[in-house]
Amino acid sequence: MSVPQPLLKKRKMSEGIKYLPLVIPLPLPEDQLKEVVEKSKDWALMHGAAMRSKTQFSEDSLQFAPFVLIPSAFPRREFMKSIEIQLILNELMHKVAHDREFLTSSLKETIKVDEFTRNLFQIYETVHDEGVTQPISLGLVRSDLMLETECPAKADKCRTSSSAGISYCCWKQIEFNTIASGFGWLGPSSGAIQRYILQELGHSDKLKNLPDNNALEGLCSGMIEAWKLYDDPQAVILFIIEDVTFNICDQRFHEFKIREMNPQARVIRRTLTDMAERASLGKNKELIIDGCIVAMIYFRAGYEPGHYHSQKEWDARLLMERSRAIKSPSIQYHLAGTKKVQQTLARPGALEQFLCEPSKVERIKEVFTGLYSLDFDELGDQAVQLAIDNPERFVLKPQREGGGNNVYGLEVRDAVKKMKNSQERTAWILMERIHPPLSRGYIVRPGVSNVPELVDMVSELGIFGVVIGDSETITYNKQVGHMLRTKVSTANEGGVAAGLGALDSPYLID
Ligand code: ADP
Ligand code: MG
Repeated sequence: MSVPQPLLKKRKMSEGIKYLPLVIPLPLPEDQLKEVVEKSKDWALMHGAAMRSKTQFSEDSLQFAPFVLIPSAFPRREFMKSIEIQLILNELMHKVAHDREFLTSSLKETIKVDEFTRNLFQIYETVHDEGVTQPISLGLVRSDLMLETECPAKADKCRTSSSAGISYCCWKQIEFNTIASGFGWLGPSSGAIQRYILQELGHSDKLKNLPDNNALEGLCSGMIEAWKLYDDPQAVILFIIEDVTFNICDQRFHEFKIREMNPQARVIRRTLTDMAERASLGKNKELIIDGCIVAMIYFRAGYEPGHYHSQKEWDARLLMERSRAIKSPSIQYHLAGTKKVQQTLARPGALEQFLCEPSKVERIKEVFTGLYSLDFDELGDQAVQLAIDNPERFVLKPQREGGGNNVYGLEVRDAVKKMKNSQERTAWILMERIHPPLSRGYIVRPGVSNVPELVDMVSELGIFGVVIGDSETITYNKQVGHMLRTKVSTANEGGVAAGLGALDSPYLID
């Protein structure tokens, strides 16, 4: 059946909805769809594109992670731009993380009301006042972005037409993650599932438009590099993990890859509570846990208040920060990844403080969307009014990671009205809402029919970066791969682990 294209175009014209072109003709005949879904579910499970179930949790079993059956179209030019710009973003964030004055002034108001950020900031001040033991930071970062179909200011410059005659604009940054930037495994593995599916459906000719993705190797190379810099072959790589790990494949595959890439490097996994109970510092401030000296720490937990059950987990974070272990992220990197710092960087003149070349500043400015502070000053008051007048133009964000914390739509107005006169408002930032183009596709989820419905979806691309350096120099700066998360277009957020999003990968179109 070849209904979709004309149908989509008609809908676009009548409703002003912008669609990306289909990668293959859809819908698929029902019997073919059923067969390919059954096969691909097993393929996903048997190749580790999986998670532990939240509803029927068992350490001994896995469920496949939700995935999109056919990759989603993504403009090649914008994809290439995101790859190229990553090195500048890495450099920028590394410099921001090492600028005490900038971090302090950016977070000054926020830490008065946001206890979590305040606790992080206190650790930062303590270790910096004492003198930093380990000057090297390892950034394992991910810049998240969405295509924007409405960029009026830059419409001439960034508007592009796809081969299908559908227009879209530029992309805009959603956020820059500096802690627990996941999907180094699940990102590439979704490409592998979709390659298999395209072949099964007789579209091998399309595989060339799925870009290579070596995110797992790239991130693990960064960890091994840091481990080598520590220069003690007996020392281990420590993953700090949550009490219960649902997203286990996206951590264990890192561990397996590290072992494969360097048989000498051993990974251990501990919770913040384990660290609180059993970790100590040696006489040269080596971090020691259960008889192992730690060369580098990879935090896959510690980014939300719920991970710190009591003061003792905070004390453990301080202990680790005081140690000689190389941390990913170091506390300054963690703070540099807050939403408040992102907003401060969007202020006029801020980028110029960190990037000498005007061309780099221009490239970054192009991908920033409107970000506003809600501080108690003239600009903050204007932002409050903007949000009350046009709540649907914005997303309201607190200083949190991990999804499910933002406020959308008309609720933005209610929330802003409620905190308008309270100091609490300074813990939030206001961001212009991005309007990504839609695509049509099938989302395959565990526990539901093998004949999924064709749905409207939107995607968020993440580009991985690895940075190593100290306050003076960057010695390692790489773009290492990507991930695409897709959700139904009506959902505000699309966390895969949270159950709303699905693994996907970009199919590049010209
Ligand atoms: P978190 O740190 O919780 O991941 P994000 O800033 O990434 O916070 O927001 C979570 C999700 O909300 C994003 O993955 C995206 O789907 C959606 N989102 C965030 N900001 C915007 C925006 N400006 N426009 C549209 N959607 C957004
Ligand atoms: Mg996010």
